[in-house]
Amino acid sequence: MDITVRGEPGQRKSCAVIGAGVSGIAVAIRMQKKGYAVTVYEANAFPGGKLSSENRKGYRFDMGPSVFTMPGYVDELFQLCGKNPRDFFNYTPLDPVYRYFFEDGSVLHARHGKEQFASVMTANSVDAKEDIIKYLDKSEIIYNLTEDVFLKNSLHKLKSFFTWPTLKGILNFGKIGAFDTMNGANQKAFTDPRLVQVFNRYATYNGSSPYLSPATLNVIAHVEIVKGAYYPIGGMYSITKSLVQLAQDIGVEFRFLAPVREILTENKKIAGIRTDTGTTEYDVVVSNMDIYNCYRQLLPHAKKPAKTLNQPKSSSGIIFYWGIKTEFSQLGLHNILFSGDYEEEFNAIFSKKSICSDPTVYLNITSKHTPGDAPPGCENWFTFINTPNNSGQDWDKLILDARTHIIKKINRLLKTNIEPLIESELVFDPRVIESRTSSAFGAIYGNSSNNKYAAFLRHPNFSKEIKNLYFCGGSVHPGPSIPLSLLSAKITSNLVK
Ligand SMILES: Cc1cc2nc3c(=O)[nH]c(=O)nc-3n(C[C@H](O)[C@H](O)[C@H](O)COP(=O)(O)OP(=O)(O)OC[C@H]3O[C@@H](n4cnc5c(N)ncnc54)[C@H](O)[C@@H]3O)c2cc1C
Repeated sequence: MDITVRGEPGQRKSCAVIGAGVSGIAVAIRMQKKGYAVTVYEANAFPGGKLSSENRKGYRFDMGPSVFTMPGYVDELFQLCGKNPRDFFNYTPLDPVYRYFFEDGSVLHARHGKEQFASVMTANSVDAKEDIIKYLDKSEIIYNLTEDVFLKNSLHKLKSFFTWPTLKGILNFGKIGAFDTMNGANQKAFTDPRLVQVFNRYATYNGSSPYLSPATLNVIAHVEIVKGAYYPIGGMYSITKSLVQLAQDIGVEFRFLAPVREILTENKKIAGIRTDTGTTEYDVVVSNMDIYNCYRQLLPHAKKPAKTLNQPKSSSGIIFYWGIKTEFSQLGLHNILFSGDYEEEFNAIFSKKSICSDPTVYLNITSKHTPGDAPPGCENWFTFINTPNNSGQDWDKLILDARTHIIKKINRLLKTNIEPLIESELVFDPRVIESRTSSAFGAIYGNSSNNKYAAFLRHPNFSKEIKNLYFCGGSVHPGPSIPLSLLSAKITSNLVK
């Protein structure tokens, strides 16, 4: 077994990053810029974790995230390294953002911007344009009050609380909707059940139920509708590709097919890591691995923060990556085919741990923007439904059921028969998501936010037990999604002395 010694006198301090998810890549860039010699260890043969890409029979698919918000957090990494982001990575604003299809046969194209969104969504609605504007104004207030407290700082360091923006957030806690559920607040705001459903859907952005999660999550509406959603030129994977390129340009070393087996400690301080080829000493270790599995697999002897780790986990998903040999003009880049009974859908996921017979279907078709993602005259359909995480269900049966329900629903709402048009198929379920990214139980977003304390019960970005051990990514503070995972990397690197 090789033993590599790092950190000899005169050498730069060394940092190992475990995982090349978007957060791991971002933290590697930040640590390298801080003066560390950084090596990223990735279990897979490819970077990006959930933010990866695959080609299949002439179709290209982004395998995970598809909605890109707050692009400035990607740009910031290039600027930090003195580079022009546009030389590496570009994106375009989306308008409309979504096409919403309802079981009553109505279709709404959600526009970008408060005014435009409110006008379109209230055409033929019992609710007024002003109701939506008032709602989005409230959602902006939540954003302004929570941004510093919950997103930009560690919630677990006392000094974070002694800044004016943070104190303001705490003093106005009553205004952030923590004491109502998302559905409760949305029912109060709107009479039109379609509007309630549109705004309730934002709970799924972190794998939660609108009937259980706090109305604070209404903040997501502000981020997407007002701040905007974007399409990265070349697809979502261009985020991963360009950040890896940047990291390599500034000297970060990547090792693929290199799963870390153990985080080594000595006297409650980081000593290094163990991989299949040996042990290597490091001054600092940052884990981008899902926090639950990190403690279970890499820190078998460490004291575990049981309360944090045992919080209920988020939902997962079944994804059919379909090559469709025709084009549908009624579909756009992002399409939501809503279920007729939303409450039953979430009840099935979070109480029955199963799926309902009329799930909401999300269709993401990147060939609408990047024609090369599908053969001419064809479309690449990322077809997603929310599911429970893996607690041992019969997934093979659930996949067959889901396929039947989804096809029936699409046929009904698009007035067509898509089954004979599917010419290639690849399926992901919670078991695949776990084996591909190490996400505990295949939960996509770490802990769920199905209670008002969830934000406080995410693991901190540092270890309270082991010096020089840090954590970043969607399963720890501040939470899942590309922008929050990037913020997680920023908070983490700021914590390193
Ligand atoms: C289907 C789906 C849809 C989504 N939709 C959106 C969306 O539209 N918009 C959005 O913003 N977000 C979305 N998300 C969430 C977003 O993808 C994640 O929150 C974010 O990518 C998490 O990044 P991460 O760096 O924390 O972790 P991950 O992407 O999970 O990466 C972790 C990496 O660590 C590696 N690893 C784990 N253990 C080890 C080990 N022991 N040794 C070495 N390597 C290891 C894994 O192989 C993996 O590459 C979606 C996710 C999924 C799955």
